[in-house]
Amino acid sequence: MPNTKAKVLVVDDEPLIRTTMSMVLAEMGYQVRSAENGFSALREIRQEMPDILLTDLNMPDMSGFELLSVVGRRFPAVHKIAMSGAYLGTEVPSGASADAFYQKGSGVEALLHILGALPHIEQLAPQPFSSAVPLWIHRNGHGSAPETCVTISCPVCLRSFPQAIDDSDGLVRETDCIHCSNPIQYAIVQPPDRMSV
Ligand SMILES: [Zn+2]
Repeated sequence: MPNTKAKVLVVDDEPLIRTTMSMVLAEMGYQVRSAENGFSALREIRQEMPDILLTDLNMPDMSGFELLSVVGRRFPAVHKIAMSGAYLGTEVPSGASADAFYQKGSGVEALLHILGALPHIEQLAPQPFSSAVPLWIHRNGHGSAPETCVTISCPVCLRSFPQAIDDSDGLVRETDCIHCSNPIQYAIVQPPDRMSV
């Protein structure tokens, strides 16, 4: 018995694959959403946690390998299936942290078999996405300019981006990652005052 009514997130940069897979899965009774790359997949997951992630491995910007690794760390309750047309068979390609592998084009039967073999899907409480502890960031240089820039590394998608900061802001600030829109709390480590005698 497939886990009907389970929520599946299909991630593929090919619109045709997204549409086809979504239709097939909806036909099987799954609640399906889709995303066109790893960053938008992370946004979708933040909106609502899927039970199953079915992701292509080769995608621009953030590959399925990276997405699987991020989801494995942040959302261990999500069942992960890798899919690709570049690998043959049923073995999960090395480097992909997935529970199962679906070779694209190997048919609905094969997909049904993989989904049916997943352990029973439990409704686990979603884990908080952002931790309560802010990132501590060092200021780049210490000019007298009122506005400076810091570089923030997103703990979710592991990408960096520049962030303008203003001294009038409080200690703990908040911004959204420009890549995956994860909310990030951060605080600036002030450079030590010069020890003048
Ligand atoms: Zn991010």
